[in-house]
Amino acid sequence: MKTGTALCLINGEWKAARSGETFSVKNPANGEVLATVPQLDRAQVEGTIAAAQAAFNGWRSYPARERARMLRSIGDKLIARREEFARLITLEQGKPLSESLGEVSYSANYLHWFSEEAVRAYGDIIPADSAAKRIFVLRQPIGVAAAITPWNFPIAMLARKLGAALAAGCTFIAKPAPETPLSALLLGELCQEAGLPAGVVNIITGDAAMIGEVIMASPIVRKVSFTGSTEVGKLLLRQSADTVKKLTLELGGNAPFIVMDDADLERAVSGAMFGKYRNAGQTCICVNRFLVHSSVAEDFTRRLVDQTRSLVVGSGLDEKTSVGPVINDAAKNKVIGLLNSAADEGVTFLLGEESRRATSRFISPCVLTGVTPAMRIWKEEIFGPVSTITTFNSDAEAISLANDTQYGLAAYLYSESLSRALNVAERLEFGMVGINDTAISAVQAPFGGVKQSGFGREGSKYGMDDYSVLQYLSVA
Ligand code: NAP
Repeated sequence: MKTGTALCLINGEWKAARSGETFSVKNPANGEVLATVPQLDRAQVEGTIAAAQAAFNGWRSYPARERARMLRSIGDKLIARREEFARLITLEQGKPLSESLGEVSYSANYLHWFSEEAVRAYGDIIPADSAAKRIFVLRQPIGVAAAITPWNFPIAMLARKLGAALAAGCTFIAKPAPETPLSALLLGELCQEAGLPAGVVNIITGDAAMIGEVIMASPIVRKVSFTGSTEVGKLLLRQSADTVKKLTLELGGNAPFIVMDDADLERAVSGAMFGKYRNAGQTCICVNRFLVHSSVAEDFTRRLVDQTRSLVVGSGLDEKTSVGPVINDAAKNKVIGLLNSAADEGVTFLLGEESRRATSRFISPCVLTGVTPAMRIWKEEIFGPVSTITTFNSDAEAISLANDTQYGLAAYLYSESLSRALNVAERLEFGMVGINDTAISAVQAPFGGVKQSGFGREGSKYGMDDYSVLQYLSVA
């Protein structure tokens, strides 16, 4: 697939919409149309589900080692074309090229990891009540699995679902976000080149509500893994009831970053810069709220402002850029709305007040102090390059402030006392906690949230569980 026109991967073939309808994919940095993509109709989505179903029995019967070999091959091909994929991600998503290169490597890690896990889908033998009986537990693939993914990590979110599904023996249908389908479709080319049988991986584009509805209503699709907003996640959860579908929901976050009075401030600020401004603040595990002990607040804030001031905002293709554009005008307007309501509610802007009047998607990074739990900017996921600072005076207060959110994805805490850090971390109601660390996402670790950030885990030795079912055989 090249930029210009793109087609969907259905049952091993590249297909346009039957109606010929398409929609445009635009570069967020300059609004240029990069490519058009098919707007599939309902019958084509249903046809895709039928193709994935037809491929299932064949795929599950492949020796695990053979499935592993193909997954590894997709990962190897991705690495071999790393620069090409990275450039495409930057073009459609906007992030700096260095981050896109990182995303490609990270995605290949998941394909390689799950190629290694595919051959270790062990079951159990359990002692029975009688010597005449045997109890075996088998791990079976759940069936046809579908993935709906967001724009902020166009291939990483796809790779970690695709890797786990294929390793488990499921066939797979992906619907990438409309802002960033091009790198996902290019990944489809690699699946073809790696020799996957027709129908094992399908990648479709079109109206999200229609595709979501068809997938959720289908009794053939046994599993849906969704990464995106909590609002859409709740809708899918409701829609899953009629077919009692298994779900993985990787939803929004509102990450606190606690700086204790004994923190190494240099380390904390360095972690803060990565944890806050990566991808222009548009990651689900981005810091949303800095909670700083009042005795170190002045020092921490000064250092954070200094380093934030040195960030370079610009096109992701420019080597000097550290913060690219936000994804679209809706995202820009959301950030401006949060800044304006915070200003009305009495915060102090130490940096970036001009962003309240931003006219483009390039938003200057901001640092705000005096943020309180009553404010909108405290409660909502900012998804932009905005740091908000709140002070606290005791560990108990820090824990209570950190947990004061409906979300529970990632949290961070900086302290030089390991026992104190562990005591606080264990009381944080978040699926992932970084202690003196903001680079927490790793293929070996279970990624996922609690509360309204969702359920299910991606990556790690647990990642295949979401695509498997346990079958117990009682043998007399
Ligand atoms: P979004 O609006 O929920 O969209 C995510 C995906 O869902 C898109 O492909 C979207 O397509 C689709 N969608 C929308 N309405 C749908 C419906 N009715 N049925 C089926 N699919 C539907 O989220 P986003 O703005 O792209 O992504 C940002 C969000 O993702 C943030 O909240 C972020 O925290 C979260 N996120 C979470 C994780 C995690 O692992 N927890 C990782 C990354 C991002 P359309 O755009 O065409 O509507």
